[in-house]
Amino acid sequence: MQKIRTRFAPSPTGYLHIGGLRTALFSYLWAKKNKGEFIIRIEDTDRARLIANADQELIDTLAKLGINSDVAIKHQSDRLALYQKASDKLIDNNNAYRCFCSPERLDEMRTKQQKNKQVPKYDRHCLNLSKEEIDKKIVAGQKFVVRFKIPDNEIIVGQDAVYGKISIKGQDLDDFVILKSNKFPTYHLASVVDDHDMRISHVIRGEEWMPSLPKHILIYEALKYALPTFVHLPLLLNPDKSKLSKRQGDVAVEDYLKKGYLIEALLNYVALLGWNPGNNKEFFMLDDLIKEFSLEKINKAGAVFDVTKLNWFNAEYIRKIIIQNDKRFDQLISNAESFLGKNSHQAKKVLRLFGSRIDNLSQLGEDSKFLFDLPDYDKKMLIFKKSDLAKTKEAINLALGTLGKIHHSEWNQDTINTSIKDIIEKRKLSPGDIFWPLRVACSGLEQSPSPAELLEFLGKEEALTRVKKAIKKLA
Ligand code: GLU
Repeated sequence: MQKIRTRFAPSPTGYLHIGGLRTALFSYLWAKKNKGEFIIRIEDTDRARLIANADQELIDTLAKLGINSDVAIKHQSDRLALYQKASDKLIDNNNAYRCFCSPERLDEMRTKQQKNKQVPKYDRHCLNLSKEEIDKKIVAGQKFVVRFKIPDNEIIVGQDAVYGKISIKGQDLDDFVILKSNKFPTYHLASVVDDHDMRISHVIRGEEWMPSLPKHILIYEALKYALPTFVHLPLLLNPDKSKLSKRQGDVAVEDYLKKGYLIEALLNYVALLGWNPGNNKEFFMLDDLIKEFSLEKINKAGAVFDVTKLNWFNAEYIRKIIIQNDKRFDQLISNAESFLGKNSHQAKKVLRLFGSRIDNLSQLGEDSKFLFDLPDYDKKMLIFKKSDLAKTKEAINLALGTLGKIHHSEWNQDTINTSIKDIIEKRKLSPGDIFWPLRVACSGLEQSPSPAELLEFLGKEEALTRVKKAIKKLA
């Protein structure tokens, strides 16, 4: 049986898009599920659109997510001889021809066609040049491109694993360029030659490449290459069903990582964009995905990329990791450290306090600020809405006395809660009379984790300093 080999073939023209990650992930999963190989290939033949270092950044971002190429990563720009050879062969076999038309002539032609309400299409001006004419032009230094000659009156038929059969009339296709005048191949030629040369069994890519499929099939046939299985993945959509935006902040994988999204959450969510496991299971670690992924469960309908759902996954993973408390918790801590600045050494404690309340680690810095720096607050805030000044004073003074008696070694939520509840019972206070001012005293806020949690976090000394400060305000 043929070995399963898949590839992710990004053009280094920018950041890794969520859609790119989805393609890379599906290709990776299919290869791994079948004990095959996954290949990253850099498609850098469009020299005008190259961005310096974009290739390395794409590779690094994928590596952070655990998606690595099983073979040395190749750049198409290093393989020009291969495409040249294929182009020569296509010319020799009469499947392609040189076109010397100037850009001006092509422009003129197109304008005319548009005026006549024709679909713009190369008029085959150079199709029948004689060998002598061609040689003369080459000797004279005239530039040319190579065009694929679409067979007349042929219906091109193809098969896609997701979208099924396609069939398209040859006359609806243009004699497309396969080799540019700078001797670089176009995407069509390079990707077919490479997919063949790299023995790719499954070409997995976004639906936007579907229109290229008939052209690719023609090249495969002309070069007598066996066809791979084509797998086009459904479009990604915004929640309003428009095509997923290209605005970097919303779709750049690197930005999500910088914002502290967890790798587990990103992979889990992206895996579900256009694929479903066929049951209600929602949580998949990479290993589960490798086991359960299948091409049959890829949907045709566009998949909505919804950040709220991604946030939900992220929150769930943060919670799970804290509860499980295994080595992933250490990773979570070091991830959290980067959002806590000078308080990064407290990351573990902050995570325990806030982990179940956030959906993103980047919220930690802002949310935990008051723990390290008590914000100023108005003394009125200390009085619970169903209480009054006198009761508040009495309660908080009693609390100070009781808390002061707790030994350092017993300074924890349980002891703190028991001692405060004791006061409530003995003095016939309502919980609000005492817990409320304690919360405000410790946080300067009306909403926060519970007072006992705060008191424990702050430690006895700092906690009592804050309580005394509140008492002073009330005096
Ligand atoms: N270089 C193309 C891209 O940037 C690859 C398309 C394909 O996978 O064939 O998406």
